[in-house]
Amino acid sequence: MIKFEEAIKITEKEAIRLDAEKVDLSVANGRVLAGDVYADADMPPFNKSAMDGFACRRADLDNVLEVVETIKAGDVPLKTIGKNQCAKIMTGGKVPGGADCVIMIEQTVAVDGNRIRFTGSKTEDNIALQAEDIRSGQVVAAAGTLLRAQHIAILASAGWVHPLVYRRPSVAVLTTGDEIVEPDVRPEGTCIRNSNGPQLIAQVEDMCAEPRYLGIVPDTPEGTFAAIGHALEDNDVVLITGGVSRGDFDFVPSVLEKHGVRLLFSQVAVKPGRPTVFGLKDRHFVFGLPGNPVSSFIIFELMVKPFLYRLMGHVYRPFKVRLPMGTDYSRKKADRIAWSPVFINENAEVIPAEYHGSAHIHSLCGAHGLMDMPVGVYNYKKGDLVNVRQL
Ligand code: AMP
Ligand code: MG
Repeated sequence: MIKFEEAIKITEKEAIRLDAEKVDLSVANGRVLAGDVYADADMPPFNKSAMDGFACRRADLDNVLEVVETIKAGDVPLKTIGKNQCAKIMTGGKVPGGADCVIMIEQTVAVDGNRIRFTGSKTEDNIALQAEDIRSGQVVAAAGTLLRAQHIAILASAGWVHPLVYRRPSVAVLTTGDEIVEPDVRPEGTCIRNSNGPQLIAQVEDMCAEPRYLGIVPDTPEGTFAAIGHALEDNDVVLITGGVSRGDFDFVPSVLEKHGVRLLFSQVAVKPGRPTVFGLKDRHFVFGLPGNPVSSFIIFELMVKPFLYRLMGHVYRPFKVRLPMGTDYSRKKADRIAWSPVFINENAEVIPAEYHGSAHIHSLCGAHGLMDMPVGVYNYKKGDLVNVRQL
């Protein structure tokens, strides 16, 4: 059995970045940039009014001002602002030469048809200066960035409509177990529905990789051999749940070895998820995940997700916080790092979710994150600071 941190390091070390491809910006959300993106213009591209109002000279604020023109967004100003002059200007309009501030329309009164007066006591400049956000030629999104809506906006504003991104890894999803039936079947007797398969597919989809569901594998060496062989043929990664423990019908590790998969670990000091298996054959990677759905979910989050992101060229840094416990919490054994679902109450305290064990999938729903409890730690007291990793 190896330490959890060591297992993570092993998977990270083996992850090789996939090739890159150009995609249309409209489908780039969730993908990872394979090259830097540069601005092709200053942002803002000109001195821009931040208000609806009048562009004028600060030195003239005490005087009656003549309105020389009206500038809407998209107009080119025709006049330069001279002494005791101003231009009516809309938000986003280009500030005319000579003006050094924009007074808000709400702080002015009309003196007559063509003249106004400032009624405020002081004003901000209310001008967004050319290039104050970004200079032309500057890197606006670096290689390795996981593209989200806010980055899509940056690429759009830079006219970067065909970003180079890493390929989506194809991820075969297999489940094992003679007792498992697909969700559309009513389980008879001692059977249960397959929740790991749909859960894993959703987890893979959430990170913009490409799941390929290959069904339920029977608990026989022959059935397991055939299914794994098929999965290894043309997928970057194979995820197989169940059949990885020490039971009489757990064939996954031995069958992987029969296929020439080099196993780098098959037991990890983590709870849940001790029987997690990781191996590789050529450029194909395999994770054997525990059959219990909570274990499968958590090991995907902790180990598979960062690994898949590495293939996609992204170093995944989950959002973590340190918060006080809202209650006492203890456990009987402390030989493995434990991860358990928690939620955060309105006082920003950590409350463990009701959790009956690794088959209790309902405890994950509504949990805000996973709390860790390191090796050797038996108790947390109310008020102790603990690490919570966002789900
Ligand atoms: P195993 O790792 O195969 O011994 O499975 C451990 C537990 O997880 C058993 O109770 C299985 O019935 C259950 N299990 C295995 N696969 C699935 C699955 N695909 N969906 C839901 N539960 C499963
Ligand atoms: Mg099984």
